[in-house]
Amino acid sequence: MSESTLFSDLRSRAQLRVSASEPDVTKMATEDVATLVHELRVHQIELEMQNEELRATQLSLDVTHRRYLNLYEFSPSGHCTLGTDFIISTVNHRLSDILGIERKKLMHYPFLRLVYAQDISIFQHEIAQLLKFKKQISFDLRLYRHDQTIVHSTIYATIPRQEENHTDQIEIMLAINDTSELHTKSLELRIKSRAIENTLEGVMISKADNTICYVNPAFEQTTGYTAEEAIGRDPSFLKSGRQDATYYREMWNTLINTGSWSGEIWNRRRSGKIYPEWLSLSTIKDDYGKVEYYVGVFSDISTQTHIRERLHSLAYYDGLTDLPNRHLFHDRIKQTLADARRSNSQFALLFMDLDRFKVINDTLGHNIGDLLLVKVAERLTSVMREVDTISRMGGDEFLVLLPKTDSAEDCCLVAKKILAQMEKPFELANQLYHISISIGISQFPKDGHDPETLIKNADNAMYRAKATGLNCYQVFSEEMNQKMVKRFSLENDLRQAISKNELEIYYQPLMDIEKGHRFGAEALLRWQHPQKGFIPPDEFIPVAEENGLIVELGNWVLFQVCQQHTAWRAQGLDIGRVTVNLSPHQFLQSNLVQSIHDILQHTEMDAELLGLEITESAAMPNLEYSINTLERLQALGIKIYIDDFGTGFSSLGHLKRLPINALKIDRSFITELPNNQDDVAIVSAIIAMAKSLKLQIIAEGIEDEAQLGFLRSLGCTTGQGYLFSRPVDVAAMTAMLQKQ
Ligand code: C2E
Ligand code: MG
Ligand code: MG
Repeated sequence: MSESTLFSDLRSRAQLRVSASEPDVTKMATEDVATLVHELRVHQIELEMQNEELRATQLSLDVTHRRYLNLYEFSPSGHCTLGTDFIISTVNHRLSDILGIERKKLMHYPFLRLVYAQDISIFQHEIAQLLKFKKQISFDLRLYRHDQTIVHSTIYATIPRQEENHTDQIEIMLAINDTSELHTKSLELRIKSRAIENTLEGVMISKADNTICYVNPAFEQTTGYTAEEAIGRDPSFLKSGRQDATYYREMWNTLINTGSWSGEIWNRRRSGKIYPEWLSLSTIKDDYGKVEYYVGVFSDISTQTHIRERLHSLAYYDGLTDLPNRHLFHDRIKQTLADARRSNSQFALLFMDLDRFKVINDTLGHNIGDLLLVKVAERLTSVMREVDTISRMGGDEFLVLLPKTDSAEDCCLVAKKILAQMEKPFELANQLYHISISIGISQFPKDGHDPETLIKNADNAMYRAKATGLNCYQVFSEEMNQKMVKRFSLENDLRQAISKNELEIYYQPLMDIEKGHRFGAEALLRWQHPQKGFIPPDEFIPVAEENGLIVELGNWVLFQVCQQHTAWRAQGLDIGRVTVNLSPHQFLQSNLVQSIHDILQHTEMDAELLGLEITESAAMPNLEYSINTLERLQALGIKIYIDDFGTGFSSLGHLKRLPINALKIDRSFITELPNNQDDVAIVSAIIAMAKSLKLQIIAEGIEDEAQLGFLRSLGCTTGQGYLFSRPVDVAAMTAMLQKQ
C-alpha cells in the first residue's frame, strides 16, 4: 500500500467514529487515536521493510546492470545497436577496437558507411529478412577499418524481445566477430591444398596406424592407383621387393627417432612395373609428442635414374662392347683381392690379346675391327661363369678375373675353352675370318700380391704366348719374368742401336745350282751389342715388330742396301738382285710403296735389282690388300719373294692370286733331305707346284752336297745356304764380288 492511500484510509475511519457516537466523543477519540498511532507504527514498519526490499532489489539490479555493461563492453565480439534507419545508438569497446574508430565517433554514425561497398546489398537483404521473420540471423560481411582496409566479419543480428510489438521503435542488435585472421588462415590453407593437389610430386598421408588417409593426383598418376583404391590401405602394397627388410627397418628407425627420412625407394606401379622414387617422409605429432600422421612426398626418378645409370655405365663400361672397363675391373680385382686375403683363397687373371688384330683394323677398316671386337666380347662372355669379370682394357686387349680359382689346371681349362670358342670363323662384312687369341695367365698369390703386378705378369705371359706362336696360352712363371726383364732391356737398347751405329747389314749369296754360279744375295740384319755381343735377328726382330720400331728399322735396312748396291755398281761390281726382308707390320704400312719408291729414287737404285721377301702369314690375312700392294711394288720393277714357304697355312687358291715372282722353301724342309720321306714329298710337291705357277724356286739352308744333289734332281734352280756361303759383311762381300 502506498503512503497516501494509508493516510486517507486512517482519516476516513476516524471521521466515521466521531459521527457514530457523539456523546462519548472525547473518550472514544482518545482510544481511536491510540489504535491509530499503533496502526500507523505498524504501517511505518511495514513501509520501512518494503523500502529495504526495494533498496536490495535496486542494488541487485545495479550489480546486474554493471555486469551486463562489463559483458557488453569487454565481450570478445563487437556489439552495436541500430535503429531501422541503421544509425548506431550504442556501441561497445570491442567494436571500436575492431574498426580502429573511436567509440565517440561511432555513436550516431550511419552503419552503412562502415559496410564494404560491395557488401551493402547483402547487409540490407539480411536485415530485411531479420525484420520480416524476427529470428536471429548470421551472415558474413566485410567492413571498413578507419584506414579503409577490410575487416572480414561474421555478424549475428537480433531484435531485442521487448521491442517486438512496437515496430516504430525497433532496435537492431548486432554482434560482430572479427574473422579476418580465420579468413587469412583459411585462404592460406586453400592455397596450400591447391598446391598439394597440383604439384608434380606425389603426396601420401597416412594415419598413426599407417593406413593411408589422403593421396594427391600426382600419387594417382605415378602409382596408377586411384585415391579410392589407396585410401584405407597400408602403404606397403606399393613395395617392389627390391629393397630388403633391413632397408625398411632402418627407414622406420630414422623416421621415428628424427621425425624425418628421405631416400630412394623402388615401388611397384599398378601396372606391375617397378620404378625408383625419391621419398621424403615426416611425422606430424600432437601436442604431447605422439605421432598422428605420416606425410610422404615423392617424385618419380626413373628418368634421373636412367641418366645416372647411363653415366655410371659410361664411366664403368666399355662403350663398344658393354663389358666392364678398366676402372670397374680395378674395383673388382681390389674387391676380389680383399676377399681372397680374408678367406685365404686364390684367384686368377687371364690377359688376352687378339692375334694380328692390327691387320684386320688396318686393312678392313675400323668399323669392321669394332664389329670383330663386339663379336669376340660376346663369345668370351658366353664361356664365362657369372662370377667372372670380363673386361676390355682398350684396343684388342681383354682381361678376365676368375675369382676362387685355386689351381693352374682350372685356369688352363678356361683358357682352352676360350681358344676353342675362337676357332669358329667370324663373319665380318659377309666374309668369314679366322681370328685367334693369345692368353697369359697369372695367379694370386703365386704371381703377385697387388693388382698391378698380377696384371703385368698376366700380360707378360700373354707376350710369351704370342712369341710361342700365337693361338695359345701361357701360365706365368718366374723364369718368364726374367725373360721379360731381358726383353724389356733389349727393347730399350734397340731404340738406340741405329744411332749408336751398332747395326750392320750382312749379305748371303744366292746360287744358281744348275750352273753353279752366284747370282744375287739376301740382305740380313746384324746387331752387334757392345755388352751382350751378337744378337740374332730372330731375337730382336719380333721385339721391333711388336713395338713398331720395325718400320724405322726396315726403312734403314732398305736405304743401306740400296745405297750399297749403287756403290757396288759404281765400283763396277755386279751383285745381281738383292732381296730385303719385309716384316708383316712393315708390309701393312699404308705408305709402304711410297717410301720404297722414295728410297729407290734417293739412292738411284735400279728397282729391277731389288727383291722383297714377305712371309705367307703377312700376305694371306687380307688378300685384297696384299694383291694391291704387291702389284704396285711390282709396277715399280721390284720382284716379290714368298719367304719361309711351307710354314704358314696358305691356301693354294690364294697363293695363285698373289702377284709374286718366287718361292723360298723354308729351311726346316731342307735340313733332313733326302732322308726324311715327308720332307721329300713336301719339297717335291712345292717345286712341282712352283713350276706350274711359273715361279722361281729357291731352297733355303742348303748345308751339304746331299741336299744340293737331291734338290737339283727335283729341278730346283736356286739355293742359299752355308754350303755356298754364310751371310758376310760388306767388306767380305765386296771381296767376293771383286774376285768374280
Ligand atoms: P730368313 O729371311 O729366312 O733368312 C734366312 C735365315 O737363315 C738367316 O738367318 C740366315 O743366316 C739363315 N741361314 C741361311 N743359310 C743357312 C744354313 O745353311 N743353315 C742355317 N742354320 N741357317 C741358314 P738370320 O740372318 O739369323 O735371320 C733370321 C731371320 O730374321 C730371317 O729369316 C728374317 O726372317 C729375319 N731377318 C733378318 N734380317 C731382317 C731384316 O732386315 N728385316 C726383317 N724384317 N727381317 C729380317
Ligand atoms: Mg728372308
Ligand atoms: Mg727364310
